[in-house]
Amino acid sequence: RMEVGKLRTGCEEFDELMGGGIETQSITEMYGEFGSGKTQIAHQLAVNTQLPRDMGGLDGSVIIIDTENTFRPERIEQMVAGLSQKFEQDFDPAEFLKNIHVARAYNSNHQILLVDAAMEMANNLKNTDKPVRLVIVDSLTAHFRAEYVGRGTLADRQQKLNKHLHDLQRFGDLNNASVIVTNQVMSKPDAFFGDPTRPIGGHILGHTATFRLYIRKSKGDKRIVKLVDSPCLPDGEAVACITTDGLCD
Ligand code: ATP
Ligand code: MG
Repeated sequence: RMEVGKLRTGCEEFDELMGGGIETQSITEMYGEFGSGKTQIAHQLAVNTQLPRDMGGLDGSVIIIDTENTFRPERIEQMVAGLSQKFEQDFDPAEFLKNIHVARAYNSNHQILLVDAAMEMANNLKNTDKPVRLVIVDSLTAHFRAEYVGRGTLADRQQKLNKHLHDLQRFGDLNNASVIVTNQVMSKPDAFFGDPTRPIGGHILGHTATFRLYIRKSKGDKRIVKLVDSPCLPDGEAVACITTDGLCD
């Protein structure tokens, strides 16, 4: 077993909450309402992963499985500019974009297959100077939610999601990579999915994702990140800000 890496978020409180950063060889689930900041944080992590370790990164490249077409290269450029300011260095946004490999997933089956493709790409990059150290699935649950509707589909959906998560865990283990998945929760009770405080994917995600982060909006650009039911860390909350420059204290 390789030594677990820690990916820093850009927000100190957030890093402390996670025991130093987002761990490799683990799945971290971010769940929260529409607009809570899940995709923004994912973009930031895609940038930070590429930093050298002494700057809180993993010196690696990134694969994003994008199911809602929400990846924005311009946002990456803004965040790289933010890092250049923070570290007083001239980071090249084009270089960062080059190391983020984005694949659109058109449906849930395609999404599952893309993990195999990711594994192949990771194998190809394994002995380069930028091995894959982060895979993001944003959103993990949207396709499943849209496709499996109505009674009688629940068991099938959970089984597929479960397999998908196990594939992702395996990816993280074999590549010493972090795995980030997002999961939208409804503000209002949902007729089919029930309890709004329980994310879609419910129990199965609860057991498979090692770290579960509930993200919610606060005043202005502030976000509250809550660590829920961690097997090895105390529950707690952190305040992070989402600005044009990216995630910060
Ligand atoms: P969903 O569940 O719909 O996917 P989400 O949790 O992924 O939502 P995000 O898209 O990450 O939500 O968050 C959108 C919010 O991020 C915006 O409402 C805004 O507050 C903030 N945001 C987006 N872009 C910028 C920017 N360039 N500068 C500052 N804040 C931004
Ligand atoms: Mg999003």
